[in-house]
Amino acid sequence: MSIEKISDYFGSQVFGDEAMRERLPKDVYFALKQTIRDGKDLDLNIANAVAHAMKQWALEKGATHYTHWFQPMTGITAEKHDSFITPTKDGKMILSFSGKELVKGEPDASSFPSGGLRATFEARGYTAWDPTSYAFVKDETLCIPTAFCSYSGAVLDKKTPLLRSMELLRKQALRIVKLFGHDETVNIIPTVGPEQEYFLIDKCLFEKRKDLKYTGRTLIGARPPKGQELDDHYFGNLRLRVSSYMQDLDKELWKLGIYAKTRHNEVSPAQHELAPVFTTTNIACDHNQITMEIMKKVADKHGLACLLHEKPFAGLNGSGKHNNFSLSTEKGINLLEPGDNPKDNAQFLLFLVAIIKAVDEYQDLLRVSVASCGNDHRLGANEAPPAIVSMFLGDELTSILEDISEGRIAVGVEKTSMVLGVHVLPDFPKDTTDRNRTSPLAFTGNKFEFRMLGSSMSVSDTNTIINTIIAKSLKEFADELEDVEDFDLSMRDLVKRTYKKHKRIVFNGNNYCDQWVQEAKKRGLLNLKSTVDAIPVFANEKNIKLFEDYGILSREEVVSRCDILFEQYEKIMNIEALTLIDMIRKQILPSCQEYMGELATSLNQTKSLIDDINITSSLKTVKSLAILIEKLNINVKELEISVESIKRKKESEKRARAFYEVIYPQMAKVREVSDELELIIPSNKWPIPVYGELLYSV
Ligand code: ADP
Ligand code: MG
Repeated sequence: MSIEKISDYFGSQVFGDEAMRERLPKDVYFALKQTIRDGKDLDLNIANAVAHAMKQWALEKGATHYTHWFQPMTGITAEKHDSFITPTKDGKMILSFSGKELVKGEPDASSFPSGGLRATFEARGYTAWDPTSYAFVKDETLCIPTAFCSYSGAVLDKKTPLLRSMELLRKQALRIVKLFGHDETVNIIPTVGPEQEYFLIDKCLFEKRKDLKYTGRTLIGARPPKGQELDDHYFGNLRLRVSSYMQDLDKELWKLGIYAKTRHNEVSPAQHELAPVFTTTNIACDHNQITMEIMKKVADKHGLACLLHEKPFAGLNGSGKHNNFSLSTEKGINLLEPGDNPKDNAQFLLFLVAIIKAVDEYQDLLRVSVASCGNDHRLGANEAPPAIVSMFLGDELTSILEDISEGRIAVGVEKTSMVLGVHVLPDFPKDTTDRNRTSPLAFTGNKFEFRMLGSSMSVSDTNTIINTIIAKSLKEFADELEDVEDFDLSMRDLVKRTYKKHKRIVFNGNNYCDQWVQEAKKRGLLNLKSTVDAIPVFANEKNIKLFEDYGILSREEVVSRCDILFEQYEKIMNIEALTLIDMIRKQILPSCQEYMGELATSLNQTKSLIDDINITSSLKTVKSLAILIEKLNINVKELEISVESIKRKKESEKRARAFYEVIYPQMAKVREVSDELELIIPSNKWPIPVYGELLYSV
């Protein structure tokens, strides 16, 4: 058997640098590289040459179609395939793909969310090629990453603002490194490595649950006898079916040039994680979208269902997406690397306080960027960070900044060795700071890890905001420092002032405890508990000003994004409520009634046969069943009436709020009774697979 080498197929489905260098004329290749590197406009002649080479390459990979692949406000990706076929006069055809078709597409945009930016009669939309993210072949189709806007130029996607924010950050960060004498630096790019959590369950069982199929999560289900309490799943060895899935998944991702790196079992049974090696933010976002798609497709091949919902199972950990981020020069120098001696690393400290200031000033935006119906189940549920945004810096950095801000000489923390006391085991230098798993935004050595994102979400919004708010801090710093006489003195003073002013956002303790909620309140930090609380702050004047001043989004675009968020929220809640009603009415209640009837009949028969035994306990079961069934009937009716009445509310925001305040608790009430019934009804009579089966059958 010949062994396939990873290097033989890594990136084989990507029209990347190597393919371009090989296939493009030299001048075209360099012109394209320049566009990618410096954001220069692209000449149509160049586009024609690139399109031709791209098509030839794609045909060799078996592609028959091409698509502009984009990221509308749904948070997932969109594609409309066109074949390369063009008819000729003699009734035959040729395979063609022009520069024009490469750079611009015109999909009908009418059915994508626009939040009122575009009436449906103005259906025209444009997609524009993003040459900074490589084209790739997937499912016999050449996919061209693109940005998406309306006929009038309004931004309708998640990529455009992200690219704008990256350009902005580049410009402002360059100003700062120049102040430190790094004139050789020509580019600074934000980098992201998103850790993706997911669940795997058996596909056949998945198919039997309407809630999983329609909503991605279980709406009912009693606790199984064994949950995650033994912590035996976290980093546990991989079951055969899971490891063969992961193997296949990695391979598919590698073909697409995605650096899938780390894989392991997570805390909850059936929960896993995949982390790629970090890369440029824009590409990391595209790759994460592809990763989520491939995860589902590969699962299907293995008879599995991959659940990306933030909370598929009540009572067990939900899934997040940890957004690790940093800033890097074009040479790969990490600007958030403190080095051996952070206290004397002035440039690092300046970037650090820029981030502290950004996070403190725009806690609200970071919070909105992770607000979703699914994520509401996680944030603040003592398994994920709370809804309060704060930062963990660790002992060493905190003590340095405290010293500086109090005018003391910063001493830092002395490095020590880890001695394990066994001769054969190596000693190694100990990290100066322990980790903090509870913080929403933790400094982890040479990068920040933002942990509030939900597993199903696009990382674009969050990173657009991270880039923009950091760029704003850096701009203000550069404005202040560029013309000062004594740079060192002014810079130190700036670090001191900034930290003093914004240090309330730093919290190194346990974010899961109630005292923190109290303490955060005292510090004046925001606690936007739910999505409906969070959405409106997006369009605060302060935030609109930020987006407008820095050319990321216009006022209308910000407002429309709020509308879209509300709309999405209410639609998802509505689907969940209707699914629950349907399951209870058509599956749970009939099964329970049938069983109650059977039980009553059989008890009656038993009684008539043997009249000298006491069957009160069994009769009690029938009685409890009858009571619970009645209760479930009442609760589900109540829920139905409420859902109907919400429809009559005119504004989306009001409907969303009603879903949160009225429907959410009513769904919980229905669930409670249903879960109680589940514990009484025999397994073979319960109409849908239960938690134990879903979690332990792979
Ligand atoms: P953890 O121990 O936090 O779970 P993982 O290894 O699972 O760590 O994931 C860490 C992620 O952080 C990886 O995707 C890694 O590539 C990413 N990462 C590391 N350095 C940087 C950086 N400089 N910028 C962005 N992401 C980074
Ligand atoms: Mg991890």
